[in-house]
Amino acid sequence: MKKEIQTEITNLRQKAEGLLKKRPLKKGSQPLESEMIKLIHELEVHQIELEMQNEELMLKKKEIEELATEKYTELYDFAPSGYFTLSKEGKIIELNLCGSQMLGKERSLLKNRLFGFYVTNDTKPIFNQFLNKVFNNKAKEICEVTLSTNNNSPLYVFLTGITTDKGEHCLVTMVDITHRKKAEKELIKTKEKAEESDRLKSAFLQNMSHEIRNPMNAIIGFSEMLEKHDLTKEKQKIFINNIIYNSHKLLLNINNIITISSLETKQEKVIINKVSINQLMNDLLLLFEKQTLNRNISIFGKPQLTDKQSEIYTDKTKVIQILSNLINNALKFTPQGFIEFGYNLKNNNLEFYVKDSGIGIKAEMQGIIFNHFRQVDEKDNRKYEGTGLGLSISKAFIELLNGKIWVESEPENGSTFYFTIPYKPVDKISK
Ligand code: ADP
Repeated sequence: MKKEIQTEITNLRQKAEGLLKKRPLKKGSQPLESEMIKLIHELEVHQIELEMQNEELMLKKKEIEELATEKYTELYDFAPSGYFTLSKEGKIIELNLCGSQMLGKERSLLKNRLFGFYVTNDTKPIFNQFLNKVFNNKAKEICEVTLSTNNNSPLYVFLTGITTDKGEHCLVTMVDITHRKKAEKELIKTKEKAEESDRLKSAFLQNMSHEIRNPMNAIIGFSEMLEKHDLTKEKQKIFINNIIYNSHKLLLNINNIITISSLETKQEKVIINKVSINQLMNDLLLLFEKQTLNRNISIFGKPQLTDKQSEIYTDKTKVIQILSNLINNALKFTPQGFIEFGYNLKNNNLEFYVKDSGIGIKAEMQGIIFNHFRQVDEKDNRKYEGTGLGLSISKAFIELLNGKIWVESEPENGSTFYFTIPYKPVDKISK
């Protein structure tokens, strides 16, 4: 540096001396030798002064340059976005700290790697197109891609790219938009859920009006027919049975609607009383046996405990409603064969089962049917009537009683619904 300055000064001096020689001497301006020596001394002192000032200036310039580089590096490295310099092939030439953190690898390990290597397969075409456009159009380009990084969850990023002056490299900024993308996805899911629930509610209302109108029409129709005078006793009995059956069906549907609304508003209460499970099963058997008349189905109940042991504390109405829903379904979805219901004592729980030899349920629907309004067949022209409420009510009741419900089934091979309730025997507790 000093040498450069020296030559600069020498050059300047030579130039000045050349210029001085070319200037014509003014008449009578020949200085005395002593004055010349003084003048030269003055000049030399000035020159040294200037040299010193120059050196100081150079040092300051260097300091400022170093400070600027330091500030730039700080800004570059600790910027909240990733900065990359990429070659035409997409190789990482340079990157900042944030960029390496986002890719989940040390900076030195990322240099000369292909940026596209970290882009997920499904968004790779978007990235390749982006890179091509950046180099071909020489204008600012943007895109959104997903990166697969070391930690398992994908990173959604927004890229902005532009070529540098000579068009050999491009500068890419990378912003993490994972939170925004996740929020977007949640929003779409919520919207889809709302639409689904809207669709199910409309279908339910349509079903419901059908499920109310049908038994009502049957009740009115058979009552009118009863008025005829020439009816045989046998016909009268059939009509009366039809009226009773349809009235029960209507009542069940109305009860289901009331129950669903009281469950949704958390108004449903558990009322514990002494219940003889064997007695309850017997009553249900008698009731449902009537529905198997004239059908090729046999129904039987299997009590496992003695009558005394089967006396427990639980909510009788709820247990009746759960079992009735399951047996009703078994009857509905079993064209012919058998229905068996019973219970076993397991780990201080009564494990009830309702088994049928009916149409069965495909595996992918076995979890869904416990949700409100859901049915295996949701087409308008479906074969089996129903509102899709029975199982969701049963599940909610069982959970209120601290039990659980599940199903084992195979299409065309029947279904067995299981549910548990705590076994709290009256006998043991009163002792
Ligand atoms: P619903 O019977 O009124 O449609 P549920 O909630 O009781 O409503 O049942 C929901 C669906 O689960 C039924 O529509 C049917 O597709 C299926 N399902 C329930 N029980 C059985 C069963 N025993 N056999 C075959 N499918 C069943």
